[in-house]
Amino acid sequence: MNLTNALMHANFLKKKPLVIIKVANGYFRGLVLKKPVLRTVDFAITNLCNSKCKMCSARLLYRHEDRKILNPDEIVSAFLEASRLGAMHINLTGGEPFMRPLDELVYIIKNIKPRRHLISLVTNSLLATKDRLEKLKKAGLDTIQLSIESLTPEIHDDIRGVPGNFDKVMAAYEYSKELGFLICLSTVITHTNFDEIKKIIAFSQKDRTKGVFVLLNPISASGAMVGNTQLKLTSDDLDKYNRLLEISNVRADTIVNFSGQSGCPAGKERIHITAYGDVITCPHVQISYGNVRKKPLKKIWKKMYNFPYLQKYSPVCKHAFDQAYYDKFLKPIENTKRPPIKVEAHPSLKNEIK
Ligand code: SF4
Repeated sequence: MNLTNALMHANFLKKKPLVIIKVANGYFRGLVLKKPVLRTVDFAITNLCNSKCKMCSARLLYRHEDRKILNPDEIVSAFLEASRLGAMHINLTGGEPFMRPLDELVYIIKNIKPRRHLISLVTNSLLATKDRLEKLKKAGLDTIQLSIESLTPEIHDDIRGVPGNFDKVMAAYEYSKELGFLICLSTVITHTNFDEIKKIIAFSQKDRTKGVFVLLNPISASGAMVGNTQLKLTSDDLDKYNRLLEISNVRADTIVNFSGQSGCPAGKERIHITAYGDVITCPHVQISYGNVRKKPLKKIWKKMYNFPYLQKYSPVCKHAFDQAYYDKFLKPIENTKRPPIKVEAHPSLKNEIK
């Protein structure tokens, strides 16, 4: 992180002194005491989506017509439990979060204590009007995460499956700047799109000092991408990928952990909670360790971080670059019709989980 970025974050955090205390506690527990500490909850707050993305990782995750999604109070209560375990960040995702009624979105944000947490929301921008964004900003949303796959409108719209989507992203980008959001351009990186990614990074650099950064998401190994070997990142891509991460406003999940170690935070510092309350390590590894409606989150999280395979920090994104992990965790469940699969039912993990 260079000086401009560090100052920008210092300025932003000045407005949230209680978050600074949570961060300090997180480092004390993780780095000094070497104890488990939760940092981020990626929370799917709806199973609905109005995009038709070619690389959707959640395609099967949310086709459970017989299951009820969590209501706003259940979402708030699950996150506040995560907060007691250390979480200082919640990322509201889906599906498409704006498919949830706006008053429910505002209710969720207001009740997850915005003064104590960083709150981000991922959107495809289709419903991200200025009025809606303004209401979320007033409720306490800090960061808007705009999904973008290319600066060429036809390419973006083709990948996302909705004509005119690119123009909506650009409109949401301008509104978000006006409203003073931190802006994350969230993009999926594949074996074939490094040139597109470099253009998105160059675009973000113009507004870097206003808080614009790029998040690289290695292409999923689940959902629509199962069995797709053409787009999957290869071990030869890793150097190029790591070079992109050296750019000051480019980030990935693996960059910062309370433990002081860089690497995949899945199941230790980061968890994903699905719209139905299943707790999984990461949205691309659709293996459930429990459901927040049935068990305290603390017990579910403990089961994850005590699992020997999740204890060590992998320096790379596991589902994308760690072939041994892929073969053990993901390959055996490629044909699961109804993810997430319970860890106790996973063909190669069921005898190892306690
Ligand atoms: S495997 Fe780890 S680094 Fe990769 S997307 Fe999941 S949480 Fe992030």
